[in-house]
This record gives sequence, C-alpha cells and structure tokens, in this order.
Amino acid sequence: MQNPNNTLWIKSPLATLDPACAGGVVIRGNTIVELVAKGQTPGSQIDETFDAGEHVLLPGLINAHHHFYQTLTRAHPVALNKELFSWLTSLYPVWAKLQPEMVEVSTQIALAELLLSGCTTANDHHYLFPQGLEQAIDIQVEQAHKLGVRVHLTRGSMSLGEDQGGLPPQSTVQTEDTILADSERLISRYHDHAGGAMVRVALAPCSPFSVSGELMKASAELAEQHDVQLHTHLAETHDETAFCQRMFGMRPVDYLESVGWLNSRTWLAHGIHFNEEEIGRLGKAGVGISHCPSSNMLLASGMCPTLDLEAAGCPVGIGVDGSASNDGSNMILEVRQALLLQRLRYGARKITHQKVLEWATKGSAACLGRDDIGELAVGKQADLALFRIDDIQFAGAGDPLAALVLCGAQRADRVMVAGRWRVTDGAIEGLDLEALKSRQRKLSVQLR
Ligand SMILES: [Zn+2]
Repeated sequence: MQNPNNTLWIKSPLATLDPACAGGVVIRGNTIVELVAKGQTPGSQIDETFDAGEHVLLPGLINAHHHFYQTLTRAHPVALNKELFSWLTSLYPVWAKLQPEMVEVSTQIALAELLLSGCTTANDHHYLFPQGLEQAIDIQVEQAHKLGVRVHLTRGSMSLGEDQGGLPPQSTVQTEDTILADSERLISRYHDHAGGAMVRVALAPCSPFSVSGELMKASAELAEQHDVQLHTHLAETHDETAFCQRMFGMRPVDYLESVGWLNSRTWLAHGIHFNEEEIGRLGKAGVGISHCPSSNMLLASGMCPTLDLEAAGCPVGIGVDGSASNDGSNMILEVRQALLLQRLRYGARKITHQKVLEWATKGSAACLGRDDIGELAVGKQADLALFRIDDIQFAGAGDPLAALVLCGAQRADRVMVAGRWRVTDGAIEGLDLEALKSRQRKLSVQLR
C-alpha cells in the first residue's frame, strides 16, 4: 500500500481518454494535482512513480444504475426468456426471501465485480425491504466502506402492491410512512454533501407500477428539503406506458412532471420510450438518463434515444442495471454494449469509442450530480482505471484506446479510488475472492 502523503506520478500511459495528460497524472492525497503533457516531466516534487507505459489510463468508470442483490439471481430458471413485467412477477417472490447475509454477500460480489472492471463509483437501487431486511442500506454502506468503492446508495421503495393495482406482491411493499421515515434516517446518517464524498444517499421509489403518486411527491419534497437526488425507472417498456395511461390517465413523462420530478435533481434508469416533445421537456429540465444497454437488449425493452436526449440537454450516463437482467456487473463490457447498440440507432460516425467512454465517466458523474469525479483533470478526485491490453483478445490491436472497447476488455489491472490503489495486478486489495464466490454460490441456491 502506498503512503497516502506521497506525491505519485502515474507516468506516460500507453494511451488515455484525454490527450492533455499523455505524459500522465500526478496524485497527492485523494486528488489529481497535475496533468503532464506528452514527453514532459511534472512540475511537482515527486515521491513515487508508477510507469504506466503498458496501461491505458481512464478516469474511473461510474455505474449509474444497478441492483446489487440481483447478483444472487443471475440466469435464474424462473426468469429466462421473458420481458420485463413477466420477468419481474416471476422474480418478486424469489427476492421476497432475501436475508441480511444475502445483501451483505451480494453487495460485496457486485462491488468486487465492478471494481475489477474499472469502476470506482457505483450507484445501487435497493428497493426490497421484506421483514428482517430493514437494515439493507446500512449493510451496503458497510460493505462499500470495506472495499473502498465510492457509492451512491438509493433508498428504494415499493408501496403499490397487487391489492392497490400495482405489480409487486403485497409482502414486498411497505407503508409510505415507514419508507419516508427510513429515508430521512438514512440521509441523516450516511449522506455526505462534501466534495470527495465516498457515500451519498438518494431517494428512489422503484417505478410507476410499484409506488403511488403520493409517495413520488413526498419523496421529491424530502429530496429537496435535504438536497439529495431522486432516481427511478422510467419509460422502460411499452407495458409501462400502457400501465401509466390506465392507472394515471397519462404517459410516463407527464406523470413524472405531475409528481414534481421533472428537474435536474432526477436521474432515470432506461429512458427509452419518449416522443420528441417529451425529450425536449426532459432536456430543458436537465433530467439525467442512465442508459442500460445489456438489460434493454436482454429484456427486449427497446433502444434509448441517447444522442437526442443529450442534444436536448440531458446528461447521459451508463449503468449495468441489476445482474438479473444483464446478467453481469462488468462496467467496461457495458461500455462496449453501449457502443454496439447505439451504433444501430445513430451510426458509426456519431457513436465513437471516446463517446461511450465519456458517457461512462463524465456522463454518469453528471447523472449522479457530481462535478468532482469522472474526469482526468486538476482538482478532481484521484479515481483511475488502468487496463493492460496484452490478453489474447487484444493480440494484433492497433489503437490502444479503441481496442479497450472494440476488443472487449473485461478486467482492469489497476484501479485507484480517492488516491488509494484498490486493485493491483488484477486483484482486489485485502479480499479473498474465492471465499466470497463460494459464500455467494451457497446463498444463491437458497433462492431457487
Ligand atoms: Zn433497474
């Protein structure tokens, strides 16, 4: 482990996303203090040097949407080959059996998998609080702290059970008073407003078909009161649009506006089925969109109009989504998926490897409401991902940065969060990965 007081030069990377730091970056404490131009040496006094001549250097990737607990139900037999609503109704009863140890282990698995794929900041949207699992977010905070990953944990919620015309079974929903009281508790206990925060909390009623309009409104008021962000699933499927029209008499974006969510405090997962006028309104309001390409393809949900949303003014980020609809949590592979899927919509000239890497860094940071991460720039947090490109899939590759995306990089060699190496030589510091995988396998069997 490096001395945290040292000044470290990550020297002369093989390639980087930002040509301004072709000679590397200088890190002091948790911050990037200098960018070094090609062929130059730092102006700062250097204590330590890491030669990155065989590494592609990126700002740490930022995952803007996930459900960590779903790593326990990847490729679950009851959910195979289904679209969103039938996929969800198959899995709700399985997820209702979640227990605290399962949240602990699945959170570690998801964060470890993300970290190994170059991710330094992760959102999670946890919305299941069956009896006995009231401390789910507290457990997640503890695990993120252990692994040293920066997290944006959302207090998710479901309040509209089958009896009220919603999709989830009654045993998985909570009362609105319980949800709001716990949301306040979690914000006051864990949310850090300061720059460089390792933990932030946001409020995340799950979706139009699992929460009431009253809870959406009350969550928006609470978020404003405490200056935290709002997150939900929206415009994911045609079924959802039909549900909104039937239940609320309006389309999803009108519903979003009617409950006080059409503003820059909000970022949405998916954001697929919008018309042109709705895209304009979302952009004007500065609503962020987490594009989740694998999940959208796997559940056959549709294709997010990323460039139109961006042109209208929406920040666009990338999320792996829950690992039951992906079914992995690999952030660098998700960047590749975004490139492949979005090229079908917008063509190869507009969807470049730089573009999708920017979505997964600066774009995701903007979705999470952060200006201190997502870029290799002076004053930003020292969150870095370094990839070697010497595995077999890179043999014969020309442009190293493009190769990372086009050849399908899967694993970072080194990852730094807030100035500390968390992954070295492809392994997470202080984690027995084999023991963790074995615990996860045993627990997942209990959910079949
Ligand atoms: Zn999701």
